[in-house]
Amino acid sequence: MTYPWPGGARAAVCFTLDFDGESPHLWRTRENPPVSVGELEQRRYGPRRGIRNLLSMMDNLHLRATVFVPGWIAAKYPEQVAEVHDRGHELALHGWCHEAPTGLTRDELHRTLDRAADTLAGITGERPVGYRSPSWDMTTDVFPVLHELGVTYDSSLMGEDRPYLVDGIVEVPVDWATDDAPYYRYVGGDPRPPATTPEVLAGWSAEIAAAKKLGSLCMITVHPWLSGRPARVAALEALLAPVVADDRLATPTAGELATHHREHGTGYEVPLEELGRPGHD
Ligand SMILES: [Zn+2]
Repeated sequence: MTYPWPGGARAAVCFTLDFDGESPHLWRTRENPPVSVGELEQRRYGPRRGIRNLLSMMDNLHLRATVFVPGWIAAKYPEQVAEVHDRGHELALHGWCHEAPTGLTRDELHRTLDRAADTLAGITGERPVGYRSPSWDMTTDVFPVLHELGVTYDSSLMGEDRPYLVDGIVEVPVDWATDDAPYYRYVGGDPRPPATTPEVLAGWSAEIAAAKKLGSLCMITVHPWLSGRPARVAALEALLAPVVADDRLATPTAGELATHHREHGTGYEVPLEELGRPGHD
């Protein structure tokens, strides 16, 4: 079945940033903090430099993104997060300090996201309506909590390649193949070097071409501490310039696509009771 993409386009490409900085490392090592500051500094490249490189690239292309930002990062780097907002991009939730929902009680999940939403509202004047779970790790508890917080869409699951509904929340699906972390995340001592930009450019160009052929969504996810590096930003500009110029491809923010789906979308609806593990008997 053909999906009715915005503007009558054949397919859509969403460009999204997970503005994590050092928050995942801080959360992961909270009980046994390492002496080394190496990975912290590597990750601080994102808020210090990478985010601005990516914002300039998007300005050049007149492309708007959705930026998922942990509340801790918004509190620590308010200037950068305000700049994201001022340049017309959407800000959305990504935990407080990048805590995966699997490690939180339902109350903790509510509290951390409520605090993050307040922090973002302090910068933009509005509470965010979108959520992406840290590491795309989800539980069935997340959806009721999103309803409680007035969040209307999620972007963490891979059960479709076009928007669908989970428990009444619009799911704007993701894909590991078009996330930069499996290619570029290299923190030393890994068996292989990070992928080169021509490899990623070729692979992601093929993903976009295939989405256009089949009428699906290509969800691109990048991290400023990884993809904000100069050659990688140049590769993204080369990848995205023809996308923006192609009127058969829609390039909505995740929030715009979620709103569009509520008004015009077709496809799956997954009730909450069908999201979890089925019984064995
Ligand atoms: Zn993240």
